Amino acid sequence: MPETPQDVLKMIQDENIELIDLKFVDLFGIWQHCTFHRSLIEEESFDEGIAFDGSSIRGWKAINASDMSMVPDASTAWFDPFMDTPTLSMVCSIKEPRTGEWYERDPRSLAARALEYLQSTGIGDTVYCGPEPEFFIFDDVRYDQNEHEGYYHVDSAEGMWNSGRSEDGGNLGFKTGYKRGYFPVSPSDTLQDIRTEMLLTMGNCGVPIEKHHHEVGTAGQCELGIRFSPLISAADNVMTYKYVVKNVARKYGKSATFMPKPVFNDNGSGMHTHMSIWKDGQPLFFGDNYADLSDLALYFIGGLLKHAPAVLAFTNPSLNSYKRLVPGFEAPVNLAYSQGNRSASIRIPLTGSNPKAKRLEFRCPDASSNPYLAFAAMLMAGLDGIQNKIDPGEALDVDIYELSPEELSKIPSTPGSLEGALSALAHDSEFLTKGGVFTEDFIDNYITYKLDNEVNPMRLRPHPFEYMLYY
Ligand code: GLN
Ligand code: MG
Ligand code: MG
Ligand code: MG
Repeated sequence: MPETPQDVLKMIQDENIELIDLKFVDLFGIWQHCTFHRSLIEEESFDEGIAFDGSSIRGWKAINASDMSMVPDASTAWFDPFMDTPTLSMVCSIKEPRTGEWYERDPRSLAARALEYLQSTGIGDTVYCGPEPEFFIFDDVRYDQNEHEGYYHVDSAEGMWNSGRSEDGGNLGFKTGYKRGYFPVSPSDTLQDIRTEMLLTMGNCGVPIEKHHHEVGTAGQCELGIRFSPLISAADNVMTYKYVVKNVARKYGKSATFMPKPVFNDNGSGMHTHMSIWKDGQPLFFGDNYADLSDLALYFIGGLLKHAPAVLAFTNPSLNSYKRLVPGFEAPVNLAYSQGNRSASIRIPLTGSNPKAKRLEFRCPDASSNPYLAFAAMLMAGLDGIQNKIDPGEALDVDIYELSPEELSKIPSTPGSLEGALSALAHDSEFLTKGGVFTEDFIDNYITYKLDNEVNPMRLRPHPFEYMLYY
C-alpha cells in the first residue's frame, strides 16, 4: 500500500484508477465522503487539500464562513471494498483554506495536536492505543412489548433465552443461553461466516487484524480483534472497523449497531481502550510498583481517574452510553483501578515480565464515541496526572459485592448520565485545553450541541417504559 503522495499518484497512473474517495470524520465519529475524478487529485492536494462546503456538517461552520478543505493522508490509502468501480479511498484531515491552518474542530487534527503536545512536554513521543469495539448484528428480531419488556422471548427449554430469530423455528435447545454468547461453536454461533468476512475485509483495508469471536450478549453480540497502533492510526482503524462491519452486515441483509446498550438486560457494547506511552522506542509504563507499573503509569492512572467524569463526555458521548455503565454486565461502574476487577474502570492486564506489553485498559469507552476525541481526551487526562503527580490511591482488588454500603460509598462511580458527564466537562476542562489541544470554543460548542440536540430533546419525549409504569 502507498505511503507518500508520490506513491499514491503513481498508483493512480499505473493502475489507471479513475475515482478517489476522500473520507473525513465529523464531530460525532461518522465518516463523511466525496468522490473525485483523478484529474482533481494532484501533488498539491496532499498539502492544500480539496475544497468543500463545511456549513452542512453538524456542529462545524456557519453558512457565511463555510469554505473548508479536506487534505488526504497518503498513508491511509486502500481500495474501497464496497464500491463496484475500483475506487481508491483516503482519510483526510481538515484545513481552513484561507489561513492554511488545521481546523480546530476537526477531530483528526485535534488528535494530532494532542500528540504534538505530548512531545512538547518531553514526557514521551508515541502513544499506542488498542481499541476493542463491540457490536450487535441484528436481523428480524421479534419485539413484543406486551409479553415481555425486551426483545427476548423465554424459550421453552428451561433457563434458555431465545434471541427470537424467526427463521429458526423447531427445537431451539441449542440456542445460546442468557449471557452465554462467549463463545460456544455453531449452531449456537450463527454469525461465524459474516464475522470472518468482516475481519478479512478489514485486513484488506490495512487494519492489522488478529481474531474474531462471538461476545457475551445473547442477541448476536460480536467482536473483531485488531492489533494496537499509534494513536491516530488506531482511531483511523476504528473508523474502518465500523465502516466494514456495517457494510458487510448490510450485504448479508442484516444491520450492525455499535449502540452501547441496544438490548435491555443483555450485555452492552464497549470499546475498551488499551493505552501506553513510549519515548525513543522505549515503553514507559513498566516498573516496580503494583502490577509492575512505573511511577509514571500510576500518575497517568491518577489523572485519568480524576478527570474521568469529564473524559466520559468524549469516550461515552451518547444518552445510551449510560445505560451500559451499570452493575452486572461486565461494564465498569467504579472509578478505580485494579489488576483483575472488571467492575473497575481501569484494568491492568496481566502481561508477564515483558515491559513492552505493560499498559492500562480503560474499560469505560464505547464505540458511540469519536475515537480521535476519545483517545485524545484520555491522553490529556493521563498527562495531567503525570505533570501533577496525581496519586491514584489504592487498587480496588476487593470484590465490590462484598463491601459494606459505607465502604462502597467511598469509591467514586462513573457519571449516571450524559448530562452528568457534560456538566463534569463544563467544570473540568483545563486539562484538555493545555497546548490548545481542545480549545475552549471546541468544548463550549460540543456541550451546547449535545444539550440542544440530544439531552434536551430526550427530556421532552415520553418513554415507552413510562407508558408501562403510568398509563
Ligand atoms: N461487553 C462488555 C462491556 O460492556 C465487555 C465484555 C468483555 O469484553 N469482557 O464493556
Ligand atoms: Mg476483547
Ligand atoms: Mg469484548
Ligand atoms: Mg477488554
